[in-house]
Amino acid sequence: LTSSPIRSALHIIHIAAEMAPVAKVGGLGDVVTGLSKALQKKGHLVEIVLPKYDCMQYDHIKDLRALNVAVESYFDGRLFKNKIWAGIVEGLPVYFIEPHHPSKFFWRGNFYGENDDFKRFSFFSRAALELLLQAGKKPDIIHCHDWQTAFVAPLYWDLYAPKGLNTARICFTCHNFEYQGSAPASELASCGLDVHQLNRPDRMQDNSSHDWVNAVKGGVVFSNIVTTVSPTYAQEVRTAEGGRGLHPTINSHSKKFIGILNGIDIDAWNPSTDTLIKVQYTANDLQGKAENKEALRRHLGLSSTENRQPLVGCITRLVPQKGVHLIRHAIFRTLELGGQFVLLGSSPVPHIQREFEGIAHQFQSHDNIRLILKYDDALSHAIYAASDMLIIPSIFEPCGLTQMIAMRYGSVPIARKTGGLNDSVFDVDDDAIPVQFRNGFTFLTADEQGLNSALERAFSRYRNNREFWEELVHKDMNIDFSWDSSAAQYEELYEKAVARARAMRQV
Ligand code: ADP
Repeated sequence: LTSSPIRSALHIIHIAAEMAPVAKVGGLGDVVTGLSKALQKKGHLVEIVLPKYDCMQYDHIKDLRALNVAVESYFDGRLFKNKIWAGIVEGLPVYFIEPHHPSKFFWRGNFYGENDDFKRFSFFSRAALELLLQAGKKPDIIHCHDWQTAFVAPLYWDLYAPKGLNTARICFTCHNFEYQGSAPASELASCGLDVHQLNRPDRMQDNSSHDWVNAVKGGVVFSNIVTTVSPTYAQEVRTAEGGRGLHPTINSHSKKFIGILNGIDIDAWNPSTDTLIKVQYTANDLQGKAENKEALRRHLGLSSTENRQPLVGCITRLVPQKGVHLIRHAIFRTLELGGQFVLLGSSPVPHIQREFEGIAHQFQSHDNIRLILKYDDALSHAIYAASDMLIIPSIFEPCGLTQMIAMRYGSVPIARKTGGLNDSVFDVDDDAIPVQFRNGFTFLTADEQGLNSALERAFSRYRNNREFWEELVHKDMNIDFSWDSSAAQYEELYEKAVARARAMRQV
């Protein structure tokens, strides 16, 4: 008889600033929900702690109720009461913290972008740990995310483990090293951390400014497990170019650092059940995809004269990271090549938004180009379903979800080889990649020539080799981008960390 190792369920608590669909700004929100659902399905107890923002999508929270406890947490030399709410989001138990602080930290109509974000989230990180302590929770893993909750790691070891919240190992995931949460060192004192102890080069001191502290650095230094969202990005951030100043810190903690590719929510993104698209379809019946293309063209007022005119989609935040100059170039090059281009995107950067408004205006009644400059979830589904290709020319991309969603909808990605794109898009002409994994078109150099070469190869294959293209679409739609395998990797990291902690306690 062979016996398989007995796995015991873990108690995992995520402390995060986002969770889809109730409080989502970007990929972080998708990861918290997707990973939690997958871990719950594996039998673990997963709970989430979020701020109670006024601007959440409250209709996605079931059984929301205020608990009959007031958790007091320390800030700026005083104790403040926090009202605690509980509810269910996507089948997951969530606690929401509503601070009774005169600054109304989460009552601003915004998730981020406030002048006092460092205060807002260091307050939240401490209040979340206080909640766990006072509720008598005994988690195996506390998982914090990005700079907003990176404070949890030093707070746990310096203040909360000594108070008795001491069963957990800390996991920190950085979803984008561009955002590090730096502030003058004195600001760290507000949440009760010891500035004198922590503002040191081997602890939280910012690597480029000695009287500043850096929250992400604290997350890296004080966590037991540190992850980022793709293996290639994990390598890139260890270099001077990719690490945004944190590469020496990451390198000196490299033993506990790993990149795990995100998955996508394959229930929310499923062309065979998606009610936001005109016609549902599967990999074995691509007629439905053709009908979605026709429907989108009609909806946007694009020409429908040529069925086989390639339609290129682009769905993105318009920020420098996404290669906005290459997106602009792709619009004009697609036009020269005789294709159609649909851009869905919006920009928090005023000059970029203005520039794209100019292009949108230039093409407003054009037969082949349409720019829709807003955030529109329903339209994004329609574009994934309608387009033949999706273009993603990112300068850097920690993981990226749009290439995976595109493939699930049979839209072939044209992507720059960086970060998570490099781990999920493999060129059809790359002999170094086994044929069964080749699924798109890639380019390395972030310039117009690089992009042209990939775009032109895609157009040529689409036009001259229909059978090849249909096989490629079929293959892409069948790739497994679910959370299952990524969640298994997190599970293994958690289990190893917990086992190490138990072994140490027994010594
Ligand atoms: P990031 O998190 O850097 O914005 P990702 O590729 O990880 O990029 O995730 C982007 C997500 O946001 C995808 O689900 C994509 O469909 C969606 N998205 C981006 N821009 C828009 C938009 N203008 N309208 C609707 N959805 C969008």
